[in-house]
Formats: sequence, structure tokens, C-alpha cells
Amino acid sequence: MTIDLDAIADNWRTLSALAAPAECAAVVKADAYGLGIEPVAPALWRAGARTFFVAHFKEAVALRALLPDAVIYVLNGLLPDTAPDFAAAQVRPVLGSVAEVSEWSDFCRDRSADIPAAIHVDTGMHRLGLSLEEAVQLSGTFRLLGFKPSLIMSHLACADLPGHVLTARQRLVFADVARRFPGVPASLANSAGTLLGRDFRFDLVRPGIFLYGGVAIAGVPPLRPVVRLEVKVVQVSTAPAGETVGYGAAERLKRPSRLATVSIGYADGLFRAGGSSDAAKGVEAILAGKRCHLVGRVSMDLATLDITDLPEGSVQRGDTAVFLGDGISVDDLAVRSGTIGYEVLASLGTRYARRYVGGGSGGG
Ligand SMILES: *Cc1c(COP(=O)(O)O)cnc(C)c1O
Repeated sequence: MTIDLDAIADNWRTLSALAAPAECAAVVKADAYGLGIEPVAPALWRAGARTFFVAHFKEAVALRALLPDAVIYVLNGLLPDTAPDFAAAQVRPVLGSVAEVSEWSDFCRDRSADIPAAIHVDTGMHRLGLSLEEAVQLSGTFRLLGFKPSLIMSHLACADLPGHVLTARQRLVFADVARRFPGVPASLANSAGTLLGRDFRFDLVRPGIFLYGGVAIAGVPPLRPVVRLEVKVVQVSTAPAGETVGYGAAERLKRPSRLATVSIGYADGLFRAGGSSDAAKGVEAILAGKRCHLVGRVSMDLATLDITDLPEGSVQRGDTAVFLGDGISVDDLAVRSGTIGYEVLASLGTRYARRYVGGGSGGG
């Protein structure tokens, strides 16, 4: 697995230029969408990112060690009695309920320390955030809190679905809430939201998937591809027509076939739903320069490609099949596996030999 840190940095710069004058943050939760926070976050910092979002406090602690001067927010918020940990790590919670706001405020007052935190308002997704009524009420008294909010934010549920009514409604609601917190920077947009126009960008945008080469909106090309996934052929074999391949005998060969068994399975994030059967063809990979389909089910550590259409002898044990790269995008693989690019990235296994290229301090 090759991860192109220059491509990630370029993708951030592209979004940053688009978002200006809004600040462009970087979302690096779930180990930078499975690509490795250790190399990825410093590459984003060198590209110019200064504000980072993770999901868990534990992720924030790891990130703090990598980036001593970054602003770091924890999206999943403040769990009970963890405020001292956040303060010690100089990490900001995204406060998602009245209880969290109170707990942080009390903590800051007890310490006589104004430690910044974000406030998350629910504008229609019903996942996290203060209700509208709670946010409006808080806006009347927020200057009396034990801390000064450093960000007022919300999250779009359907930014990747062009023209969805909820998106316009969330924007209107958020604009109304945000202006009730004068002097507090506002943030609404994820990757897809950043493309929806100036009205969605407010003071700070929070892209994730676009940085890593995923498409967030159907029909919009991804930025630079980031991940290349090459897998070894461990065996080449033949099988007569009428035989079946793999567990469950899910696919019966219609012709005498040549097969290449490759060293990748669902333990490596090749989804079992991406296998082939008599009913449907699954994931494609590139072998000897040509696209081939999986044949039969995906096992834990292995999968099999149909190479019957390739010239005889063109594939040998030890050759490489490309599952991502050379025109196969994260989203191509996702669609053929019945999922989304986010899940493909976040599921990339830990067994690959990972090679990071680029990401030096040059560039830009
Ligand atoms: C994950 C996440 C993002 C980034 O979303 P992308 O679609 O990957 O750009 C932004 N904001 C919040 C609250 C998130 O949970």
C-alpha cells in the first residue's frame, strides 16, 4: 500500500484556496481515515493546516504528540469527568449537549482558566449537538460561561446529495444560530459542504474524505488519488467449466478458466460483499495491464481473479494485482463492494506493508 503524502497536501491546498477567506481545517479521525495519522497529520501541517479534528480523546493525545502547536478538537465531545484530561493535553472538546457545556464551564471556573471549546448545534441531523432551543437560550448568556467558545459548529447530513432539501434548511438554521454568537467563528461544511458555495463555508471548513482522494459528491471528480494498493499473486491455476470457485461454491465457471489467487481478503478491508457469484460480478483489479473480475467469494486472506481473458502466461506467481490505482479509485472499489469510499479507507487492514511517498517540507 503506497500513500502519497504530496497528494494529500495538494488536496488540502486546493480546498484551502477554494475556501479562502475561510480557514481550511483537516479532519484526521480514525487514523486519518485509515491512512495513518503519524505521517499524514504532519504532512497536512507542513501544507499549512493549523486546526485539526479527531473523533476520540485518545486520537487527540496521539495527535498532540505529533503537532505541539496545532489546534485540536475532539468531535465526539466531553465524556463525564474527563475535562482535566482535555486541559492537560491542551485539546478542545466539541461540546454537544447542555450537560457538556455546563461541565466544561464549571471546570474552567473552578480552575479560573478560560480554556477554549467548540459548541455543536444540531441543525437537523439528530446525532450530536444542542437543540435549537437550547442553543438560542445559551446565546443569551454565553458570555457568562466560564470559557469563551472558540467555535460554533454544526454538521450537514446530506451535503453529498445534490439539491437535498435538508441541506438548504440546515444552512438557514445554522446561519441564524451562528449570528446569535457574535465574535465566535462558525463552521458547517465537511468536504462536500465546502463545494456547495461561499454560503456554506462560514469561518472554517472541515474536510476529511476529499483530502484522502475520496469523492464526497456523486459526479464530482475526486482530487488527487492518494492510495495505491498492490497485491501479490500467490498462485495461478486452471479449472474446467462447470467447477465452482471459493467458499459456498457461489460462482460456477461458465468456461474453462485460468485463475489467479491473490493475497488479499476481508481481513484486509476487501469487503466480502465485493465478491462475485452467479448472480453478480464483484470487484475488479488490474493484472498485466487489464481489468479482471473477482471470481467467487472473498475469503479472510485470499481472493481469486478470473484471468481467462489475459494472454496465456502473462500472469505469474509473484506478480502484482492493482486494487487501487491506475484508474481504480477508492469509490470504484466502494461501489462494487456495496459501500462508500469512507468505509473502504477506514477498513484498510493493518497487514499491508505501507510505503509513504512525498510529504517533505518542499512543495507548495
Ligand atoms: C467526519 C466529519 C467531517 C469530515 O467529513 P468529510 O465528509 O469526510 O469531509 C466534518 N465534520 C464532522 C462533524 C465529522 O464528523
